[in-house]
Amino acid sequence: RTLTVELGERSYPIYIGQGLLQNIASFFEKHQITKKSPLFIITDTHVAPHYLNDVETNLHKAGYTVISAVVESGEQSKSLAVYEQMMTKAIEAGLDRSSTVIALGGGVVGDLAGFVAATYMRGVRFVQIPTTILAHDSSVGGKVAVNHPLAKNMIGVFHQPVMVLYDTSTLQTLPIREVRAGLAEMVKHGLIWDEAFARWCDQHAEDLLALDPETLAYGLEKGCSIKAQIVSRDERENDLRAILNLGHTLGHAIEATAGYGEFLHGEAISIGMAGAALLAVQLGADPSLYTETKRILERFGLPTVMPKHLDTDQVMNAMMHDKKFKEGNMVYIVPKAIGQVYIDTNMKVSAVRNMVERLK
Ligand code: NAD
Ligand code: ZN
Repeated sequence: RTLTVELGERSYPIYIGQGLLQNIASFFEKHQITKKSPLFIITDTHVAPHYLNDVETNLHKAGYTVISAVVESGEQSKSLAVYEQMMTKAIEAGLDRSSTVIALGGGVVGDLAGFVAATYMRGVRFVQIPTTILAHDSSVGGKVAVNHPLAKNMIGVFHQPVMVLYDTSTLQTLPIREVRAGLAEMVKHGLIWDEAFARWCDQHAEDLLALDPETLAYGLEKGCSIKAQIVSRDERENDLRAILNLGHTLGHAIEATAGYGEFLHGEAISIGMAGAALLAVQLGADPSLYTETKRILERFGLPTVMPKHLDTDQVMNAMMHDKKFKEGNMVYIVPKAIGQVYIDTNMKVSAVRNMVERLK
């Protein structure tokens, strides 16, 4: 399957399928990635043992020079310190302007390697090889970043890849909790944009959780294409793109209050999406909107209630610090129906607080 992401004048393909990495070199050749300059693969300690060797070997055989760096698995690798190590490695290895940086891994490696690609000698080519379900989200839109100790994703730029190679067979080794969390973002794409896709996710929950290759490929393609449609209409996050934040205002507050690590991002936004639907019902939507949203998320084994040990005041405080706050008014993404949301730029904090209390 090939999906073309169009962003302004630029476009790039997302190839999705089983076993693509066996033919990785042919994709590189097709996109005129030169054999004269070294390739730089950035991956992590969980991904490398499964896939790095094959990728390196296949590229070597085709005549490419490959250098690899394996960073520690986890969010802490999205740091300026690790970024600097990658730069050191790139310089020592003699990467030049015609080199390509390759992200082999999930969103962490994607964001880190993308930021390296965007800034090395003011920008070199970038190829994404996502190995998580969540990365269907991060591989579209061109946002790349590292974290500052005071705030996530604070140091970043936009840098689009040359192509995305999504080999669904790499998902087989993903821990089930990561599978569920990644599927939360897939369901989100249905909930914000496409009722039919939300229903499809609901009906295919079992096959998706079982990583059935065809079902997964369709779901990933649809998820990527929905995100692509949204960001191509609003590449620099002025307005429409905000709908991608469904469940994220509360989700981020839960992640921050619980301490990063207790909840995976997808789990936290699942609670956030259930909360947004409850808020909609409080504001007058049909009660079935909440029960349906909750039921769909629970089909994926995702959490939908506020953890009892989290203090409402703390969660509210964390939300107030969220960057989606503008001029004292709370911006909130609220569902209208399954597959439709609106941006409320003037949401009452008391209504949100009430929802958080009721979500326990
Ligand atoms: P991740 O990259 O940390 O991967 C999750 C875990 O799975 C890690 O432990 C990783 O080592 C492991 N893993 C990855 N692939 C594997 C495989 N095939 N087999 C076994 N283990 C594997 O996290 P993620 O959920 O993919 O991404 C989260 C990151 O993405 C966050 O940093 C977030 O900020 C970022 N993100 C970016 C965007 C964007 O637009 N740039 C969008 C959403 C999320
Ligand atoms: Zn998210």
